[in-house]
Amino acid sequence: MTHILVVGGAGYIGSHMVKQLSRSGYEVVVLDNLSTGFREFSLYGELVVGDLANLNLLEHLFSTHKFSAVMHFAASSLVGESVTNPAKYYRNNVAGTLNLLDVMVRHGVKNFIFSSTAATFGEPEYTPIDERHPQNPINPYGASKLMVERILQDYASAYGLNSVCLRYFNACGADPDGELGECHNPETHLIPLVLQAASGRRESIKVFGRDYATEDGTCIRDYIHVEDLCSAHGLALQHLLSQHIQGAQAYNLGNGQGFSVQQIIDAAIKVVAEQGYKLKVEEAERRAGDPAVLVADATRAKNELGWQPKFDSIDTIIRHAWQWELKQAAKLNH
Ligand code: UDP
Repeated sequence: MTHILVVGGAGYIGSHMVKQLSRSGYEVVVLDNLSTGFREFSLYGELVVGDLANLNLLEHLFSTHKFSAVMHFAASSLVGESVTNPAKYYRNNVAGTLNLLDVMVRHGVKNFIFSSTAATFGEPEYTPIDERHPQNPINPYGASKLMVERILQDYASAYGLNSVCLRYFNACGADPDGELGECHNPETHLIPLVLQAASGRRESIKVFGRDYATEDGTCIRDYIHVEDLCSAHGLALQHLLSQHIQGAQAYNLGNGQGFSVQQIIDAAIKVVAEQGYKLKVEEAERRAGDPAVLVADATRAKNELGWQPKFDSIDTIIRHAWQWELKQAAKLNH
């Protein structure tokens, strides 16, 4: 049995990952402090509740398990909060990750997969964004993730720690079986908010600005299904375990196709109408720090990892997220 530690495995992306890993025959241990994750999302593997700040716990975990690799999804990830409370972001995302990397080095665990982000690039100089694009983050969240990317390069040369950073664009969608989905508190992401407006959990969806330099004036993003993100991690893991990937590598993950806020709303209106639901759309001011267009060039992940997104239709993404949203709304009504 190959043992994998998934840090943050009770969160949105981590829980989908744990399910995929378990289904593929890996033995999974989840470490999660449940600050933004949920015990109910921990359906597979063994859950250890704890924080990366707890060095004794980390030491104990690595002394009692022989991990072949570590996947690290646990992070504070609200851009706005990172501006007002940067200490939290540097402590959790940088110092916490350092604790994890150091215990890995001490115990000779050599393979690491890290959730990075398009926010490490900052304001795009060109799109689609490939791995050669300059990384100049414009908020502490993006900066904290870039610092870890940098640390991983140095840990590869000094300690032989092999790593893959996967830079997500807009993670979305839900488990096609309907067991898992997105749940943030507060929710800030477009697709869940649109669907909550349709299910009645929210009054309306607000469009943050219609005066961007795009065809319909709303921002364009690259929405990537959580299952496809996880399949990229699965491939990265195989390449690390077979030593086809060494050193510190990084890949951008997206579908390479952008959708505007208005296109997402239109697609959602169509999907929810099939069951007789509607939603109210309101206009709002631009949100600070939103670039007009963010689209990934994922050619490198396709060529080197052999990755191919399976759920790249926006309709499928919204259908899976809607199935999950209806379940959440029904739970609240009972
Ligand atoms: N957005 C919006 N209304 C909302 C939430 C988001 O118009 O209630 C827009 C946001 O300005 C951005 C896009 O939807 O252009 C995607 O935002 P999200 O927060 O989902 O992801 P981000 O791109 O910030 O990571």
